Amino acid sequence: MESKKTPEALGAQQEWLRVTLSSIGDGVITTDTDGCITFLNPVAQSLTGWSLEEVSGVPLESVFKIVNEETRGTVENPATRALREGLVVGLANHTLLIAKDGTERPIDDSAAPIRNAKGKIGGVVLVFRDVTERRSAEQALRLSEERFRLLVEGTKDYAIFMLDPRGHVLTWNAGAERIKGYQAEEIVGQHFSRFYPLEDVQAGKPEWELKEATARGKYEEEGWRLRKGGSRFWASVVITALHAENGALRGFSKVTRDVTERKRAEENARRLLQEEAARSAAEAGAQEARRAAQAERAQREQLRVTLESIGDAILVTDAQGRVTLLNPVAEALTGWSKENVSGRPLEEVFHIVNERTGQHAENPVQRVLREGVVVGLANHTILIAKDGSSRPIDDSAAPIKGEHGTITGVVLVFRDVTERRRSEELLRRQNQELEAATRQKDEFLAMLAHELRNPLAPLRNALQIMKLAGDTPQAFGPMREMMERQLIHLVRLVDDLLDVSRITRGKIELRKELAPLSAIVQSAVEASGPLIEAGEHRLSVVLPPEAMYVEGDPTRLAQVVSNLLNNAAKYTPPKGQIRLTVERQDGAVVIRVQDTGIGIPAAMLSQIFEMFTQVDRSSDRSQGGLGIGLTLVKRLVEMHGGTVTAQSEGPGRGSAFTLHLPLVDVEKRRAQDDARQAPQGPACRILVVDDNVDAAESLSMMLRLSGHEVRAAHGGPSAIDQAATFRPDAVLLDIGMPGMNGYETGRRLRELPGLDKAVLIALTGWGQEEDRQRSKEAGFHAHLVKPVDPGALEGLLASLQAIR
Ligand code: ADP
Repeated sequence: MESKKTPEALGAQQEWLRVTLSSIGDGVITTDTDGCITFLNPVAQSLTGWSLEEVSGVPLESVFKIVNEETRGTVENPATRALREGLVVGLANHTLLIAKDGTERPIDDSAAPIRNAKGKIGGVVLVFRDVTERRSAEQALRLSEERFRLLVEGTKDYAIFMLDPRGHVLTWNAGAERIKGYQAEEIVGQHFSRFYPLEDVQAGKPEWELKEATARGKYEEEGWRLRKGGSRFWASVVITALHAENGALRGFSKVTRDVTERKRAEENARRLLQEEAARSAAEAGAQEARRAAQAERAQREQLRVTLESIGDAILVTDAQGRVTLLNPVAEALTGWSKENVSGRPLEEVFHIVNERTGQHAENPVQRVLREGVVVGLANHTILIAKDGSSRPIDDSAAPIKGEHGTITGVVLVFRDVTERRRSEELLRRQNQELEAATRQKDEFLAMLAHELRNPLAPLRNALQIMKLAGDTPQAFGPMREMMERQLIHLVRLVDDLLDVSRITRGKIELRKELAPLSAIVQSAVEASGPLIEAGEHRLSVVLPPEAMYVEGDPTRLAQVVSNLLNNAAKYTPPKGQIRLTVERQDGAVVIRVQDTGIGIPAAMLSQIFEMFTQVDRSSDRSQGGLGIGLTLVKRLVEMHGGTVTAQSEGPGRGSAFTLHLPLVDVEKRRAQDDARQAPQGPACRILVVDDNVDAAESLSMMLRLSGHEVRAAHGGPSAIDQAATFRPDAVLLDIGMPGMNGYETGRRLRELPGLDKAVLIALTGWGQEEDRQRSKEAGFHAHLVKPVDPGALEGLLASLQAIR
């Protein structure tokens, strides 16, 4: 203590110290230099359990008992050391203070010597505090850190490690070892970018992730990472930035999980899904393909049917010109069948030659393959079939192009043009014939004019002569004969013309009967007599002894024979010989007219039967014909079921015309003859009605000569008048009368008393079937065509009278 200070001042100072020491939160004990307690504040009292009164002057050791926390050995009191060494003794850790009642509490303590003004140690002050609270907190923290450490270290499923702010590995747990394959000592201190695949490192991914984590506190991702050794695993990563309390970046924690399995499972699932999707797409595709195939099949079928049913031949080749397909028409034309043709070179199957040269022709397919264009119709081509038969064809070929325009084959279409050729040929011939006919017709008209003028000139001359020699009738005799001849000639020309026109229109009608050939021949010879005589020819007629009959129109047949005789006379120089022979040949009669005349060139033998055909048309050789006589002959003979042919050994060597006509059985003739005898009936009362007075009178006269009683009327009304009193058995009625026609007159006559049973016979210039039909409907019994054949009329009258 300071001697200069007053005891009061000193006392005050001690009081201040005591109060201060009492108020502070730590335990404070002071001792004197002997280490005996001089003061302890309330905190020290409560920590030690001793009161100041109890321990004042007591050695410190008996109050402040401390042991080492761990060893429980006595710990040197810091106050003792501070007294001894005169130094401040720092906190002795891990010290337990044992209180008066034996309770122990961890304390921190420190001791410092108390020095007086002279620097001399006057005692020690011991400061200590209860660290139980701090200890348990520390303990708890230690424990929890330990647990965490154990947890982290023991965690095998997670790689958990720390990185420093630059990314170097600081810690390494078991999971990291397991997952990444590195031992802690291998990896701690290394940069974490080695866990990344090269491409990620090159892309700066590791640094970028740290940056992200720094900025956002956390970075999460999944991605490929490398194990030691370089194998990859799929990692789920969380990087968390760690900051110090002052906010400075301390580093990062990184938790990595190997989710390869999951990823694989996911991928498997995804692959399955994809596969499933692909499968169903494929399924859909397959369906689509099936549909397409179906459509294609349908299309192919359509194509096949089309090809099969098409009228043209179709042949398809590939790009090498080998046959891939041919339709039935092509099979028929080439003679090859589908089965044995496939793959053969086209030339073998489709062998063509030029129609004119007979040389091998280039196949259109070859040209198509070469030039890639449609090759049109090659005309004049002959297809030689497998069996060697040939036929003209038209063909064309076109390329079949693939997707990119490349030629994948050729389709060849061809057809048999035989028929077309034939009809073309026919048409050409018909045209020629038509031209010839037109030419002939023109020539004919010119000739007709000429031929008509020929007889007209002498007629006009004769008339002139008669006029001049009016007073001398004796001169008329030769004139009249000449006029008659010319007239006959004219009439014959006109008749022939009419006949020809009727024949060409099919309008000639035959009045067929059983006709004796002798009569026909006789009539023909009589008719041709004048011409034969004029030529001073000698005619010999040879007939068989027995009678022969033909079923036919005797007038027409006589006309036929007469025509042949006339020609023989015309085309034989004067004083020639004409021979007419009739003979039986099997069931036919052969009539032949031969002459020694100018003959007929062989080429003309069949043509002369054509209308208007004449061998020599020059007018000086003209024999006054129109070139229609033989046409008539031929038609008439054919209408009788016969034939006519011409023979000649050539010009100047005479001609012969031969007729064949079917013969009629003699027995049949007899029966017919008997029938013809029968109707010789009694005389009748007949009324002849015709507005043509001459016709009426001549017919009346003829009937009277046959023994009938006859009256004539020249019109309908007069006929009715006369009939009323005359009461005819039969009426011959002209149909075409002016005023009251024949049908009307007949109807009226029928109404007269007693005339209902009269036989009505129509007389017309027309023998057509419709006329007959009409008169039949009008109640006529028969229909006769003018001029009336007296024999036929007799027979008719007899038979009608009989049935009346
Ligand atoms: P036309 O005698 O009027 O000329 P035809 O039809 O009767 O006509 O005869 C046709 C052609 O046949 C005659 O023009 C003639 O050239 C030839 N002809 C007919 N008969 C004979 C015959 N007996 N001898 C030589 N030629 C004949």
